[in-house]
Amino acid sequence: MSERFRNAAEQSSEAQLEIKPVFTRPGEASSLPKFKMPDGLMAPDTAYQIVHDTAMLDGNSRLNLATFVSTWMDENAQKLHLEAADKNMIDKDEYPATAEIEDRCWRMLADLWNAPDVDDIIGTSTIGSSEACMLGGLALKRLWQERRKAEGKSTEKPNLVLSAGVQVVWEKFCNYWDVEARYVPVTKEHLVLDGFELEKYVDENTIGVVAILGQTYTGLYEPVREIAAKLDEIQAATGLDVKIHVDGASGAMVAPFCQPELEWDFRVERVNSISTSGHKYGLVYPGVGWVVWRNKAVCPESLIFHVSYLGGDMPTLALNFSRPGSQVLLQYYQFLRLGREGYRAIQQGSIDVATYLSSSIAKMESFELISKGDTIPVFAWKLKDGARNWDLYDLADRLRMRGWLVPAYPMPDNISDMIVQRIVVRSDLSMDLADYLLTAIREEVEYLQALTTPLPSEAKKQGFAH
Ligand SMILES: *Cc1c(COP(=O)(O)O)cnc(C)c1O
Repeated sequence: MSERFRNAAEQSSEAQLEIKPVFTRPGEASSLPKFKMPDGLMAPDTAYQIVHDTAMLDGNSRLNLATFVSTWMDENAQKLHLEAADKNMIDKDEYPATAEIEDRCWRMLADLWNAPDVDDIIGTSTIGSSEACMLGGLALKRLWQERRKAEGKSTEKPNLVLSAGVQVVWEKFCNYWDVEARYVPVTKEHLVLDGFELEKYVDENTIGVVAILGQTYTGLYEPVREIAAKLDEIQAATGLDVKIHVDGASGAMVAPFCQPELEWDFRVERVNSISTSGHKYGLVYPGVGWVVWRNKAVCPESLIFHVSYLGGDMPTLALNFSRPGSQVLLQYYQFLRLGREGYRAIQQGSIDVATYLSSSIAKMESFELISKGDTIPVFAWKLKDGARNWDLYDLADRLRMRGWLVPAYPMPDNISDMIVQRIVVRSDLSMDLADYLLTAIREEVEYLQALTTPLPSEAKKQGFAH
């Protein structure tokens, strides 16, 4: 029987594809060209298996405690995702329903962030916070340029004031749009931008100040109220009226639900615009961000393009042209499905897991917490002073061997001798999984403590905070 099968298989390559198990087919059985497009075709199942298997070598996203980006959505969302994979967000005329849903989403966010007049706002979806931050920064730059031109003053040397602990997108913004970045150093006393010595950085060429709601290094919030109060003092002393962009990549989707009394949003008058990542605590798979301005007047008309939309006019602003519409539909799905109550429950659940983990880690003899995870569910810790044969990079390596990605990295410039390790808790890290993680940390620390000589240090990687 098997003999006959083999003979038949040899007769035609088509039959061969059908009969041979996937891993012995041509392609799977041989090594593939990696940097040149192959000349011929390949059976679709074989190609699928090869791509699938290569991607299998990535880490398990659920155990990746370095990322802020959603790694779990429910089955309805997965269904919607597939159904809408062909929608292009930019084709507003072609997909007016998706365009309208986009509009509803940023209006909901403006309301959530206490915009003073919901009939006088403008916002947009983006591919993520990076694009949203770029747009917020560009609007500040244009506002400053237009004001300076009207006053007959130079627009040669714009600067932006930000914490040295900003996410890398702000470095890019300053680099790509020729804005001088004025970093306020992070110190042990001032781990976040809190207004301290702000007067030394702000001048007539300052286009704005960035406040981060949920610093990537530690999860700490920058106190927007205090920064604004300091800018009020600066205005009283110098006449300079400097506005704030809140980079709420994570926190803008946590604070409204879990710290509703904290005033960081449009309740603070100096806040010009707010951005967030729909794909972080907005609970959507990667590919969506949002930015909203306080009112139409603070988003310069010169940044807005007008496209025809159902015979009418639709204002758009974005850096990218084509991009997925499906993520916007997923965001709307989450808003409808969860509502304020659902978001509160989910984010609070993550904060509970984060504070459980941080308090357990604080009890371990070797560690000292930098933050607790009670702002956004993100916290960091460092090693206590003292001699030992291991460091946090070694612990990160040991945990990686068990599948957990828990990065170690240096803090920003001024305190870059301080190495920290961080956990980002997302909605899909259950209390139960958190216990497995704690066990892994305890066992690996025990292993490392028992070392009588240091591990080779040249293997140590520079971790990352982004
Ligand atoms: C993640 C993050 C960004 C970049 O956002 P993307 O959605 O990844 O583009 C910017 N700022 C902060 C504070 C972040 O945490």
